[in-house]
Amino acid sequence: MTECIQIVNEDVKKMTDIMSKFIGLVGIELPKDVEDKLASLAKEETSRLGKVVYETMQKNQEAAKELRRPCCQDTGVLQFLIKCGENFPLMGKLESILREAVIDSTKVTPLRHNSVQTFDEYNTGLNVGFRTPSIFWEIEPDSDELEIYTYMAGGGCSLPGKAMVLMPGEGYEGVVKFVLDVMTSYGLNACPPLLVGVGVATSVETAALLSKKALMRPVGSENPNEKAHLLETLLEDGINKIGLGPQGLNGAKSVMGVNVENAARHPSTIGVAVNVGCWSHRRGLIKFDKNLNYEILTHEGEL
Ligand code: SF4
Repeated sequence: MTECIQIVNEDVKKMTDIMSKFIGLVGIELPKDVEDKLASLAKEETSRLGKVVYETMQKNQEAAKELRRPCCQDTGVLQFLIKCGENFPLMGKLESILREAVIDSTKVTPLRHNSVQTFDEYNTGLNVGFRTPSIFWEIEPDSDELEIYTYMAGGGCSLPGKAMVLMPGEGYEGVVKFVLDVMTSYGLNACPPLLVGVGVATSVETAALLSKKALMRPVGSENPNEKAHLLETLLEDGINKIGLGPQGLNGAKSVMGVNVENAARHPSTIGVAVNVGCWSHRRGLIKFDKNLNYEILTHEGEL
């Protein structure tokens, strides 16, 4: 029994350590799909100022990698979207592991202190607080593996986040109008080029969570439903026509892409939500097996 507890404690420590380093990596280096898309948008950019902004972004990334410092000053609020096999051995310890990993990474990486207790208005200095980090669970039957998306939700890129339930009869045209209204009003504030996540479901919370899940999908990926993918391409064309350009200073493109995620809905209502990732779209995916061997699926950098 004592030996068993000791093994679990060692595994908890091992996983906390891996996740602390992984959070640091996500804060320092952008995922490969985002790096590649930024490089191709930089080539396509026609405005002189836009080109300079892309060059500056590139230099920023190189400096962050070389100095092992976060690539944006805004740590954001840490969010984890996890898909946990029902037989993954540390399932019951995961929330405390992730919390401790955030605290450790805040000191070691280091990360800017970004967690303010609502109403009490003080910064915890640890990047964790009441009900944060946010953890969204999915349980996978017949599996002993674990996937963790780690996401740093910055203030600027969280700003355009919006959800509403459309009036009956507004239909998918209403979805398009809603998304374009949000992007023309707030897109500028979120450090473009943006990855736009759109959730389509029934109620605001279901649509909102899907819009965040959409941001976990790689840039350039497609919704498997043909009509949903058509909506992705139409929205991408429409938002690009706004011409936000890099950092909102005008330019050829506004977005890295638009990802739509959907769920079956009530017959008379459509709930829609938008969430936005900025050019510094710090999301990473790590996968563990039951022995805590891990694989990083989004980054080429090492822990
Ligand atoms: S929007 Fe993104 S790049 Fe801009 S300050 Fe916030 S986290 Fe950083």
